[in-house]
Amino acid sequence: MQYISTRGGVKPLSFQQVVLMGLADDGGLLIPESLPDVRDKLDSWRKLDYLQLAHEVFSLFATDVPNGILEQLVGRSYGNTFKPEVAPTVQVGDLFILELFHGPTLSFKDMALQFLGNLYEYILGETGGHLNILGATSGDTGSAAIYGVRGRERINIFIMHPHKRVSDIQERQMTSVLDANVHNIAVRGSFDDCQRIMKSLAGDLDFKRRYCIGSVNSINFARILAQIVYYFYSAFRVQEMTGTDQIRFCVPTGNFGDILAGWYAKRMGLNLSRLILATNENDILARFFNTGVYSRGTVAQTYSPAMDIQVSSNFERYLYHRVGDDPRRLRTLMEVFAETGALKIELAEGEVVASEMVSKSASNEETLETIGKYYRDYGYILDPHTAVGVHVAEDFGLDGEPLICVSTAHPAKFPEAIHKATGKDVARHPDIDALADLPTRCEILDNDSQVVRAFIEKTLMVS
Ligand SMILES: *Cc1c(COP(=O)(O)O)cnc(C)c1O
Repeated sequence: MQYISTRGGVKPLSFQQVVLMGLADDGGLLIPESLPDVRDKLDSWRKLDYLQLAHEVFSLFATDVPNGILEQLVGRSYGNTFKPEVAPTVQVGDLFILELFHGPTLSFKDMALQFLGNLYEYILGETGGHLNILGATSGDTGSAAIYGVRGRERINIFIMHPHKRVSDIQERQMTSVLDANVHNIAVRGSFDDCQRIMKSLAGDLDFKRRYCIGSVNSINFARILAQIVYYFYSAFRVQEMTGTDQIRFCVPTGNFGDILAGWYAKRMGLNLSRLILATNENDILARFFNTGVYSRGTVAQTYSPAMDIQVSSNFERYLYHRVGDDPRRLRTLMEVFAETGALKIELAEGEVVASEMVSKSASNEETLETIGKYYRDYGYILDPHTAVGVHVAEDFGLDGEPLICVSTAHPAKFPEAIHKATGKDVARHPDIDALADLPTRCEILDNDSQVVRAFIEKTLMVS
């Protein structure tokens, strides 16, 4: 399997090259040259457990990783780290919920970042290289990135978060990881300041090369790949439970990584009639799929912070296919978007943006109402991100083809919203409760890229 860039300016790459490159050198996103057709494999895949299925899917894409190694990487990523099951699907009322929050940080991002961490360690071991990951987090994704690489050889991770501006739980999930290769930095400033520092350091090519600076953000194709697996796995389970072949998925969406994986699964041959894209009040994607216009707004803060996003970093991969796999047309659109903050797909009379992808948004109020309703009616506690999905799923109707809503976080990560919605402290998890007593380590630094840079240099000198 070879990989190309959406902007057409990179010669074909191998999977391992793609993992190390992250963003394509021409500024585009890396995608497989073509997707494998797996329709004749579905009957045998149905019988596999999660690890076996992951191995099968990965082996179609990671063709330059030896099979035995791939099996080990899958075992290390999903064998003992997800409890009690990797990706169970449960029925709640008329809806199916795919629970992806049984990993070490109780976020669905563990599904991809556990695999990416193991992949990095393997590839660096082969090439003899080192990697220093630099990231900025507003709270939710930093911990999944840290758990993906903690204790791994040849990798350091530096994660910046805004000092005293992330929740107590979020801060402790990150700073209680004491492995020598994990470096938490609390910046005296806002999340935007953290991102500015990150851009300034990542934009300094000399610094970047000298210290092998990389990132784990959601544009890495290995993350998308890891997410394809659970669409097959969950659809098989619901097909067994209901005896119905055609399945729908609803996906709470921010950076478009999760739902893109579902769309790839469909294109590979999974019997998936519709993907429902759910957004919170930050609805740039809902507006696009309803009108063909993709236009940047301002970010609103909601109860589902991991979806408080205006520009979706993976959207370009979808757009590339929507404009006929044409890098020139894609480039033109992205240039227009960079200049004006908006782009538009021309639609003929009666034409829709996508027949297989539909979208709506849920307001803050609807999110809380949905959490309250599912708690009262079924005793099931939805986290606020999942609740956005469930609200939108209900809006499209639960009768007809079975509908699976992807659940992206454990509710215990968001106790304030749950309390507001139910009036009770019902969202608990032993790992979250245990955080209060753990020792922590964190470096508090001034809001200045030179100060952060000096800290990184000093740390790498010693280690
Ligand atoms: C990242 C995240 C999302 C959004 O997923 P994308 O792949 O960015 O669309 C939804 N919910 C939670 C809890 C997340 O952490």
